[in-house]
Amino acid sequence: MAARYDVIIRGARVIDGSGAPAFEADVATKGDRVEAVGAPEGDADFEIDAQGLALAPGFIDVHTHDDFAAVLHPDMGFKLEGGVTTCVVGNCGMGAAPHREASLLARAFHPNQTLPEWDGYAGYLDRLNLHPASVNIAALVGHGTIRLAGMGGNAKREPSSAELQSMKDLLGEGLHAGAVGLSTGLIYEPGRYAQTDEIVELAAEMRDARAVYATHMRDEGAHLVDSVAEAIEIGERAGVPVQISHHKASGRANWGKVADSLALIEKARDRGVDVSADQYPYTAGSTILSAILRNDGLRAGEGGIGSLSGDDVVIASTASHPEWEGRSIADFAEEWGLEAQEAGDRVLAQEPLASVVIHSMSEDDVLRVMAHETTMIGSDGIPTLEGRPHPRLYGSFARVLGHYARDAGVFPLEQAVHRMTGMSATKFGLADRGFVREGHFADLVVFDPNTIADVGTYEDPHHAPRGIHQVFVNGAHAVGDGVHTGARSGRPLRRSTPRAPSPID
Ligand SMILES: [Zn+2]
Repeated sequence: MAARYDVIIRGARVIDGSGAPAFEADVATKGDRVEAVGAPEGDADFEIDAQGLALAPGFIDVHTHDDFAAVLHPDMGFKLEGGVTTCVVGNCGMGAAPHREASLLARAFHPNQTLPEWDGYAGYLDRLNLHPASVNIAALVGHGTIRLAGMGGNAKREPSSAELQSMKDLLGEGLHAGAVGLSTGLIYEPGRYAQTDEIVELAAEMRDARAVYATHMRDEGAHLVDSVAEAIEIGERAGVPVQISHHKASGRANWGKVADSLALIEKARDRGVDVSADQYPYTAGSTILSAILRNDGLRAGEGGIGSLSGDDVVIASTASHPEWEGRSIADFAEEWGLEAQEAGDRVLAQEPLASVVIHSMSEDDVLRVMAHETTMIGSDGIPTLEGRPHPRLYGSFARVLGHYARDAGVFPLEQAVHRMTGMSATKFGLADRGFVREGHFADLVVFDPNTIADVGTYEDPHHAPRGIHQVFVNGAHAVGDGVHTGARSGRPLRRSTPRAPSPID
């Protein structure tokens, strides 16, 4: 007897997430899983004609700051409508728990909102189970957050053994609840006060689980290569996989240094270290203004951000000066008759949580990092829906598929999809996701490879990309004909343990 499915998507070119060539097939789902790939016999309650379109695994955004956004804005339209079905939260040292410290650090992303409460990672992930978002959420424990909880905010020193133990306990709670790794943010307060040994001690707690050490490194400018070396050293000494966050060379004086950082990554992989990276596909970054000023980013020739000019730094969001958004620091410097760093300090005095877009990278470097086999895609989007967040929040995946794969020919579409699906799921231990395969979860996206494109700009960022037609999350139809259906079928994804070391590619 012919089977009855929930959904059959007919006639699409299936890009299965492995990097293998696309093939034409019908794909059938039942419940939350893919049941058949090929020519399923039978019919379905709901059929989609996808002739001329591509069918891929839902995109996995490995680098997000959506910890609180998943709770405050559970529709997550800014991700879902761009084809993202899973977000890895807790990057750059900023995690979701303990709640008190997490909300101090998340305040910059949600300046005027009341932040709901939970108890530890167990409470956070349980809450997402009870009140689902529209996308799946996997969580990293944030080193900055647990350091703030374990040592307080002004501890510009090594932890005592009791303090280190309390950080280990907090990390342990997260891992036990299902966190997929530990992140650091070594330019931020208070992560920047941690020495290498402290991080090794903490990361070593993940050795048995082989959970991931993800790092916003100490210096992405003049000392980029030393910083990559430190990340690799931490992974090797602790015995855990390493993920270098938003791999780039920041600041004009440092352009070209990614050739050396990529070479260092290759060398480490040759001796068996599981090290890879992620990237957002833009020449501008984004962070909080205070991080730039504390790292002397606007003082010539200095700074872990790379030496920037006042023109490079543009206000993205503020708590109470919307008229400042879109203006550069150079603009303020001229108006106030100050040097750029001093003008930045004055902005900061009134808007301590201001975030900025930083025009700091070269297109050649972006292309070189993207083309490298160790790079996956992560948006690093800042989910501040007021103001002018960097357009990467919406457009990162469509921009890689459209602008970089199709138009610039950086890599075949299959390779582009692999860097945002199968490769990512394998690295972060997301079981049964990242591939279009029988038995895997039905996280799927149907898009038009001929028209897919990012739409948002720095001036006008709040636009979903073009060309995303259908999205399914755990089998539920979440985007239909480009429109959010209101489905909230995302789940907390808990680390599956233990797992084999991830393959090279
Ligand atoms: Zn970061």
